[in-house]
Order: sequence, then C-alpha cells, then structure tokens
Amino acid sequence: MGLKILIEGASEADRSIIKNTLNEICVLSEGETIEVLPYDAIEDVDKGVYDFNIPNLVGLKKLNERSSILNAIILQAPIGIALSYNFEPAAPESNAFISINPMFEKITGRTKEDLLELGWAKITHPDDLEEDMAYYKRLQSGEIKSYSLEKRLIKPDGSIVWVYLVGALLILPGEQKPSYICLIQDISKRKEMEKELAESERSKSVLLSHLPGMAYRCNFDRERTMQFVSKGCHDLTGYDSEDLLFNKKLSYNDIIAPEYKELVWEEWHRILAARQPFKYEYEIITASGERKWVLEMGQGIFTEDGEVEALEGIIMDISERRRIEDNLRYNNEHDAWTGLYNRRYLEQLLEQDARGQLTEKRAIISINLSSVQILSMTYGFHYAQELIKRVADALKLLCNHNYILFNTYENRFVFYAKNYKDKEELAAFCRAIGNTLESILVVERIGCGIGVIEINESNKDDVGKLLKNLLITSEKAVNMAERDINICFFDEELETKIIREAEINHELTQIAEGSDDNSLFLQFQPIFDVKQNQICGFEALARLNSRKLGLISPLEFIPIAEKTKLMVPVGEKIIQKALQFLKRLKENGYDTISIAINISAIQLLRANFTKNLFEMITKMQANPANICLEITESIFTSNYQEVNRILGELKSLGLRIAIDDFGTGYSSLARERELNINCLKIDKYFIDKLLLIKPEDAITGDIISMAHKLGHYVVAEGVEDERQAEYLARFGCDKIQGYLVGKPLNEDAAIELLRKYKQEIIIEYGV
Ligand code: C2E
Ligand code: MG
Ligand code: MG
Repeated sequence: MGLKILIEGASEADRSIIKNTLNEICVLSEGETIEVLPYDAIEDVDKGVYDFNIPNLVGLKKLNERSSILNAIILQAPIGIALSYNFEPAAPESNAFISINPMFEKITGRTKEDLLELGWAKITHPDDLEEDMAYYKRLQSGEIKSYSLEKRLIKPDGSIVWVYLVGALLILPGEQKPSYICLIQDISKRKEMEKELAESERSKSVLLSHLPGMAYRCNFDRERTMQFVSKGCHDLTGYDSEDLLFNKKLSYNDIIAPEYKELVWEEWHRILAARQPFKYEYEIITASGERKWVLEMGQGIFTEDGEVEALEGIIMDISERRRIEDNLRYNNEHDAWTGLYNRRYLEQLLEQDARGQLTEKRAIISINLSSVQILSMTYGFHYAQELIKRVADALKLLCNHNYILFNTYENRFVFYAKNYKDKEELAAFCRAIGNTLESILVVERIGCGIGVIEINESNKDDVGKLLKNLLITSEKAVNMAERDINICFFDEELETKIIREAEINHELTQIAEGSDDNSLFLQFQPIFDVKQNQICGFEALARLNSRKLGLISPLEFIPIAEKTKLMVPVGEKIIQKALQFLKRLKENGYDTISIAINISAIQLLRANFTKNLFEMITKMQANPANICLEITESIFTSNYQEVNRILGELKSLGLRIAIDDFGTGYSSLARERELNINCLKIDKYFIDKLLLIKPEDAITGDIISMAHKLGHYVVAEGVEDERQAEYLARFGCDKIQGYLVGKPLNEDAAIELLRKYKQEIIIEYGV
C-alpha cells in the first residue's frame, strides 16, 4: 500500500525534500511507500476520501492517522517546519494549527513564542524581505500555490543564518481560510562555501585581469589551442582574448615570432618530460606587427595517468626590461667614445672561444698608439681624443665578420681575427692597417706599433697573459725604429724574453724583501784623475748573479726594477753596499777615494730620499764629500724643478752630483747653468767618435770647455784607447774612466789596484 501525497505547485526539488523527510520520520509497515507527487499526477484520486491538502497535502489516508503522523513529522523533521506562521505577530490562540517544530526554533535561534510574537517578516533580513513578501502575497491571494527562495534570517544575537525556504498553502479540513506551511533548511554552510568560492573566483578573475600579462590555459598541441585567456591578452598581443579562444581567429602559436616557434615548442617538451616548470623568453609579433619580448612562465597539468591534460601559465611583456638589459649590455661591451667593442667584451669572447676546440685559425692584432700621449700633452686631451676617433673610424672600414675591432684602452685597438688562411694573410692585414693609419698619423708626426699573437692550444686559456703578451709585442713594435708604423709578431724570442723578465723580477723581489743577500753585488770601476795622475775614485756598478740565468747586466735588470717599482728597495741595498765599500777603503787608508753611485729617477723623487740617504751615510760614518751621485739626463723630463731642488739640497749637504751619459739625452748645455750639479760625465759615444773622426772635427773638446765655463768638472766614460786619453788630456778633461784605466772589479781587486797604483804610476799623459 503506498501513501501518496499530492502536492500542488511545488517544484521537483521541493517535493523531494518533503518525500525524504517523510521517509525519514514515518514508521512504515512492510510494503508501504511514500510518494510525493504533483497534484495533477493522479487524475482519479477520490478527493472526497482524501479530503485534505498538506499544502494541498492531499492524501493522508485517514483523518485520525493524520495528526499523529503530522505531529511526528513536525516534531522530528530535520528541517524547520512552521504551519500557519504568519509574517506579522500573532497570538498563539488565534490559530489552533499554528505549529513550529524544534528544528525551526533551532535554525532561527528563537522560541516558538518569540517567533509568533515577532512574525517572520521581522526576523527576515531587510534585503530579502521584499522578495519573500511578494511571493507570500501571491500565495495568499491564491495566485501561486507554493514558492521557494533562499533568504537570510536574523538570529537574536544579530548573526545571520541562510535558509532555503519552501512556502506553500495548506488547506486544512474544515478551515475556510487557507493555512500556510513554511519549510526551512539551514544552508549557511553552503552559502559560506559559495561565498568563499565566489570570492576566490572573484579574486582570481581580479588577479588575472590585473596581471601584467596574459594568463592562459591551453591544450598541449602545436597550435597552443587556448581554453582560457585572461583579459591581459589585448594589451600584450593586440588581439582580444576571444580571438585566441579555441583558435577562433588565430592560434597563440601564430603570434610567436617565426624563429622562436620551434624553440618554444621544444622547450615545452623538455620541461614536461622532466616535470619542471616552464620559463622561457622569446619574441612575439603583435596585431600591429610590433615585436615584443615576452617571458612565459607556466607548467603542465597532468592527469592521474601522467598524461598532459593542459598547459597553464602566464605570458608577460619584458620588452622594457630587455631594452634596459640591452642598453646595459651595450654599455658594458662598448667603448663610449668610439662606439667600438671594449676590452671587457674582447676578454669575454676570448674566454668563451677558449672553452671550445680550436677549429679555425685565430689571432689578436694590437694597434698601439701610445705616442698619442705626446699629442695630449702638447695640444690637450680633446685633440688627442678626436684623433683616436678618426683612427677608430678609419679602422672600422677594415672590419668584417672575420676581423672584429675593439678599443681596448684609450690609445689601443685590437682586431680579433678568425678563420684567416695563414700568417701571410695576417701580415697583409697588418700592412693594410698601416696604410690606413699612415695618412692620419704622418700629419701628426707620430708612429704606431702593430703587435700580433696567433692563438694556439697552448696559449688560448690564459686570456690575461695573452693580452699582456700582445701589449708587450705592440710595445716592441712601437719601439722599433725602422719605420713610423712597425709590425711585430709574437715569437719564441719574445716569449723567452718575457719569461726571463718574469724570473728577474722574481729574484729582484726576493732581494727587495731581504730573503736573498748574495745575488746582488757591486763591482767597482776605477776613475782616474788626469791632473793628479792617480785613481781618485770608483764607480759602483750593480750586478745580479741570478740562480737560474747567471750573471745579468744592469742594463737589463735595472729597467725591470724601475718598471716594477722594485728600484727603491733594490737601490737602497746598492747604496748600502757602496757605503760599505767606502768604509772599507777608509779602513785601508784610502780616505780620499770617492765612490760614484748610480741613482734612478724613481729613487731620487721618492719622498725622504735625502733623509734616508743621510741616515745611511751617518750610520756608515762616511764623508759626504767622498760620495758622488750619478743621474741620467732623462730624469729632468719628469719634473725639472723638483729634481733640481732635491739636487740642490744634496749638493748643499756636501755630496757631488754628476750627469751620467751626458750628451745623449734631454738636457741642453744652455740649461746646464741652472742645474745643481758638479760634474758632467761625457758619454762613451763622444769618446768613441774620437777614434773615427779627425780630432779637429770632434766636439768633445768643446763640451769639456763649455762644462768648465759652467763651473763643472768633466769625466770621460768608456776610454779604451791611449789616443782617446791623449785627446782628453789635451782638452783639459779632469777625469777618465774606461777599460784603459781598469774594468769594473770586485772589492778585493779594486783595493789591490789602488795599492798597485800607489807603488808605480803606470800611466803618464803629457798635458
Ligand atoms: P753607466 O753608469 O754609464 O756605467 C758605465 C757603463 O759602461 C758600465 O756598464 C761599465 O761597465 C761600462 N764601461 C765602462 N768603461 C767601459 C769601456 O771602456 N768600454 C765599454 N765598452 N764599456 C765600459 P755596466 O756596468 O754594464 O752598467 C751599465 C749601466 O747600468 C750603467 O751605465 C748605469 O746606467 C746602469 N747601472 C749600473 N749600476 C747601477 C746602479 O747601481 N743603479 C742604477 N740606477 N743604474 C746602474
Ligand atoms: Mg754611471
Ligand atoms: Mg754612463
């Protein structure tokens, strides 16, 4: 036997709520079912027998059963049920049927009495009242039989509860006035979730629409068929997002710049295989044809089986960042003045190429214009800069993809040559450089050196050394006197020289540090006083006895010491040794014999040179009058005034000052008068000349008489021949030095020589 409840006007969902409720609360006998059907579903229902409606609830079998079942329903229903509960306050006695179940009280948070007293309108949220009231009115007027809506109720504490409400007419037997049934279900949780969902949807869509780029979800196919495209699409690509959706107008792949299509696709394959995130920069072409740099960041979405379901990500415009980066890179790699690549970039390229195998010939060619420095000093910095610019422009014409040009330092250019045929091709290229620069440099009367190093397996890795050797090679070319523009290839000889220099430098460092006291020693060359006919002094000449290289000439190691600033400590050791010898001479009774010490410009111009020297002199109890300092003329090019001041100071303290190698350097006799010096040492060049030209043609005699007029005494250097000595004596030269008198000697031999001279005067010159 089935219990059929016919309900009028309720939706299927409403009927199902009622049915479920009834099934839950009714104890049904075997075979009994409850069905909730639309009112019209059963045509032949005997409405006389089933003569009441709930709401239009029709069909409860018997009147007497009705109240018990209904009460059970009402009491135990897990939904709130109110019968004949009005929108306005009502007294309980006004309607016997008024019934509000416990769940209704629970959901609303109010007692039945309160509810009746307030009426439902007062506990309905104002925003929902209008809608509910409209339905209710229509229900009351009989226009509709039931309705449903979601609305908010206000609990006594002011909090809100969301309910799903079904309202329906309830015609009870014997009642003319229709009653009203209201079913409510607490849907706050669902509403909360819906709200959260809506909020998260909203924030997602806000986020996506505000993202500086285009968010997407697409198929993993070649076209990148878009399932979702955010609004940012338009700003990024110039196309509306709808145009891209499911490739409506065009596919995303169509927008990627042609040269990147394959790369992007491969990168997706690669990262998906490795299950890594996607991050790639490439260019797109927008609707207006403009190229844009974009950064795409995304990931694969996988099914449970590990299949790629979709790709999701975002594509952002990074053109501006790229532009800044390009600018930075440009500035980093270029010289601002000439616009050429700079040294940093050359180093980068060389290092990069060194990492690979040498498959082609490579070389670096340096164009050294160090002489432009002279132009800066003469005509000013800007003039020299303009010249460099002209040189750069001229050299640019020689560039091609095998010969790249760099401006490595102010006055230096480098060509990085690749893929050339042979050394001859390089030499021809260097000659072409020479020809190009000749016309510019000849007018300025300056020369330049072109140095070349071929790169091979053994030298390619140490880029620093490669560039240092290139500089040395070009310096050598600068110093070659053959032509104005010289070409020099780096070869074994030069390499040996560089290695040798490094070794000497190493030993000098040890000497300077005091860890080696034997390698550096002095020899003493006698100086003969012509008028007194005896040895009057010695010149101290430094020697380096290298452990590895043997005996090294001062002509080689002194310039190295000067270049590396080791000259100051090494020079100090030389002075000490010379003063020790002076002391030994004194101890041997030769207290009038003097010592000439060679002093470099670097030493002399060093602060406190005079002070330090005198400390040493005092310590060794030496007589300043027995010390002569030899300086070369070139020292006056550095700082004439200052040098002359220091010399004056030294001279006033009783030391003697000699100009060494006189006649070969800078000074002019005209200026000699102002110099704080005592002596001119005539260079060997003028002494050698005496044997080659007629005595009456030689100017050596004139130099001597000029020096005398200026109040200086004269020493002749490098006297090897009797005839030279005779000439010099005839022209009044005060002293002579040279192999004729004696070669540089060790201390003992020097003292021995003095002894010998004392006994017999071996040389006699007629005056
Ligand atoms: P210098 O000061 O002009 O020294 C004279 C050089 O000529 C010495 O060469 C000497 O051995 C050489 N000489 C002397 N008489 C003759 C001769 O008759 N014939 C020939 N062919 N040569 C002769 P050395 O010792 O090789 O020194 C070369 C240069 O090195 C010196 O030229 C000097 O400028 C520099 N030097 C030597 N010792 C020192 C030093 O302690 N300090 C500095 N700053 N320079 C030094
Ligand atoms: Mg000298
Ligand atoms: Mg000399």
